[in-house]
Amino acid sequence: MTTYVVIGAKRIQQWIARTPRLALTKGASHALTTRTSCNYLRDKLPNGLRLSGEVPDIAGVVVLESDDGVADDTVRAAITMVAKDLPGLEWSAWVYEAASYVEAYQYTGGGQRCARVYHVVPATRRLPMLAECEGCHEESAERAVNLPDGKGSYGADCVVRREAFKEWKDTPKPREDGVAEPEMFEHLTKLEEPGDDDHPVRAMGRRDADNHLALILADGNRMGDFFKEVAQLKDPQAHKALSKALDDATREAARRAREAVIATMVNPRYCPDVLHYVGGDDVMASVAGRFAWTWAVTLAEAFEIEFQSRVEAFETEFQSRVNDVCADRGSKFEEVKKAAKSASLGVGMVFTHVKAPFAGARELAEEMEKIAKKKGKGEKSYIAWADTTVDHKALERNVIDTELAFEELRGGHVLRGLGPSARSALKQELDAGRDAVAWATRTGRPETAKYLEGHCEDQVYADLDRARWWPVVEEIKEGQE
Ligand SMILES: [Zn+2]
Repeated sequence: MTTYVVIGAKRIQQWIARTPRLALTKGASHALTTRTSCNYLRDKLPNGLRLSGEVPDIAGVVVLESDDGVADDTVRAAITMVAKDLPGLEWSAWVYEAASYVEAYQYTGGGQRCARVYHVVPATRRLPMLAECEGCHEESAERAVNLPDGKGSYGADCVVRREAFKEWKDTPKPREDGVAEPEMFEHLTKLEEPGDDDHPVRAMGRRDADNHLALILADGNRMGDFFKEVAQLKDPQAHKALSKALDDATREAARRAREAVIATMVNPRYCPDVLHYVGGDDVMASVAGRFAWTWAVTLAEAFEIEFQSRVEAFETEFQSRVNDVCADRGSKFEEVKKAAKSASLGVGMVFTHVKAPFAGARELAEEMEKIAKKKGKGEKSYIAWADTTVDHKALERNVIDTELAFEELRGGHVLRGLGPSARSALKQELDAGRDAVAWATRTGRPETAKYLEGHCEDQVYADLDRARWWPVVEEIKEGQE
């Protein structure tokens, strides 16, 4: 038997989002990824513990193991060792003895039903009466730093973020096309350099779209069911490979979302997105408002394809390895494949002005993600959206099936026949409780009349709202149908 010590950062996305400076959120992402990696931790472990070979590197999670029992002091020393270099985060740990990590995870429900749990609050939590950190306003300032706009004081957490941002800046990330990674949120508002005859993608219902971003959160549906099937294989290496397959699929989906947008840009200068966090099936990203729909829809579609194909690719390797040992494991893999086929994403998306507080957008995006997951019932990918430039509401009706969204990205928005003033006239009719079908017929819009007859009022409101940020290339003429 092996004793597993599983250390994990809590509320990662809140932590990343708590500063308005992109350099500090990027620094946070980079610090989290590098400082919880096996390479970074290898020589720093307390005596008696080693890194587990049964899990891939996942940002924010550290799995250690020992052949003997592990004393409380050793567990605490391990948490302290991990937390020391990421002082703004809250940490928890659980300890369990089992034949494999998969078993430990299954028996304890990921540590939730574990008797030995530990908790560490952030080392940098703000103390009263001390100066405030200017990077995040959530910790006490400790150190004076030089900022682009003068001198400031940072706390220990923001000092770590700042150093990690410098590390990230020094990491080469060349693209053949010369498109640069954004380093400030403002870069996401100056993505292209179109000439006079170029027609960049614009938002269907916003003329000032460039000053806006969308914060996108995504989370896999039914991944617990998938890993329950994986546990039935009783093969630690399969668990590791399939956990990595999930992480890789999510990263590749985000990369494809970026490339799908860049393909529609005119003389792109900056990449259209900032990936704040990817871990397993979780994603948090900021995307330029005009391109957010293309990004989100591509992410969800690509995630399903990438994940399934990686699971299938692993099957061949798995079969050849286990068939000699135990023939019936092969049939168990069918169940794993079935679970992978029904994997999907819940996506929450919030449009904001570039200057709007990041933390508030994150909270709303989390609510929208929940709406998307609820609507999908774990069976299909849905995208739910909110728009803080109009209201700050999480409306249950603002949700769309990814397949339908994909069709409309190619074929045009369902209300493409209506120009901006016709759309606002339609909304006025609905708000006033008048007969919208009669309005459409009276104003010579038979197609719109047909659409209105076939859709409930909530759906029409949602389609009107969705039109605001829907991407279009060509000019829309009033009243064309
Ligand atoms: Zn700070």
